[in-house]
Amino acid sequence: MSCAPKAVLSETGDPLLLTPGPLTTSRSVKAAMLHDYGSRDRTFIEINADIRRRLVRIAGGESGYTCVPLQGSGTFAVEAMLTTLVPAQGRVLILINGAYGHRMAKICQTAGLAFETMEWREDQPVDPGALAERLEASPDLTHVAVVHCETTSGLRNPVEEVAGVVAERGLGLLVDAMSAFGALPLDVSTAAIEAVVASANKCLEGVPGLGFCIVRREALERAQGNAISLSLDLHDQWRAMEGNGQWRFTPPTHAMLAFKQALDEFDSEGGLAGRGARYAANCRELVDGMRRLGFETLLADNLQAPIIVTFRMPADANFRFQTFYDRLAEQGFVIYPGKLTVADSFRIGCIGRLTAEHLRGAVRAVERTLAEMGVSSGAPAPQGAASAAT
Ligand SMILES: *Cc1c(COP(=O)(O)O)cnc(C)c1O
Repeated sequence: MSCAPKAVLSETGDPLLLTPGPLTTSRSVKAAMLHDYGSRDRTFIEINADIRRRLVRIAGGESGYTCVPLQGSGTFAVEAMLTTLVPAQGRVLILINGAYGHRMAKICQTAGLAFETMEWREDQPVDPGALAERLEASPDLTHVAVVHCETTSGLRNPVEEVAGVVAERGLGLLVDAMSAFGALPLDVSTAAIEAVVASANKCLEGVPGLGFCIVRREALERAQGNAISLSLDLHDQWRAMEGNGQWRFTPPTHAMLAFKQALDEFDSEGGLAGRGARYAANCRELVDGMRRLGFETLLADNLQAPIIVTFRMPADANFRFQTFYDRLAEQGFVIYPGKLTVADSFRIGCIGRLTAEHLRGAVRAVERTLAEMGVSSGAPAPQGAASAAT
């Protein structure tokens, strides 16, 4: 009989979310929501303006960019960016190496926008050289869209290089930086990026409920009338906000209060550098610990973003993912199934209100769980053997 160890919990006693999101937030971020504001309240309007300015600054967009927040999950913001900025007579090339790239293609298909795709394996970064050749051969493209950190695998795409290639041809680059914004550096004006979207509840550690787009003002001005949806029209949302400081429709007031507190905590941690360093330390702790137990990461370290890590499924016949998942959850660690087509896998996230100590606890819980399951090592089947079998 094993005596169950005390669960490791968040500041408010919940299990830790080692997932792609929603994520663990601090007690103070949740506590910031204990107020009700009306949409026209002066204080709330000032908070909106302050948050928009701070997000532009994090993106390095003080000259020429604006921030348009939007109600909904991150996908709403991605859809709003694509459908507002790509005009009916435009054509977007979508770079795909995971589920979030595919989602952008689905958005364009649903919206009836003209699009093309370039696809790479989920364990391979998008290739700026191949992109340059493709752009050379496709004179009718107006935009390129790419995912910064592909949360499907945890891979960091070379967005700056992609931006260089796209800017050389005078096209607009649209970036889904959902899982990277605030932790991985990306400077919109030096990289000549047209627009970047992210949400409040990933690396900025706010609560879910809104996303935002940092967009070149001149591109947004040109986008008037492009939208095919009223509620996802970023141009209209922007005009209204610039006009009276208010949201067009019911604002996510509590999520905005939490977001302001989250940005204060982001600043006190040292901004992007501080946040990125904590996540890098989390990731190191996790990867080193899991490798000691025999696990293998999908990605080589040079492709891995410190956001979420994909591990190959252990080969041991006693390993059952559902049991593994359930026992970790009982110990206070919620992990995430894999979503890959290239390998059987699961994921463990490093972002949210987590420290290296939490990740150390997670690795200890994994070790304990393997022992209880009678699994001697986390090692996957040799890759040669796996591919020979398929
Ligand atoms: C989380 C995420 C999204 C948005 O997902 P939602 O579930 O709509 O919030 C989009 N792109 C990437 C890369 C993400 O990690």
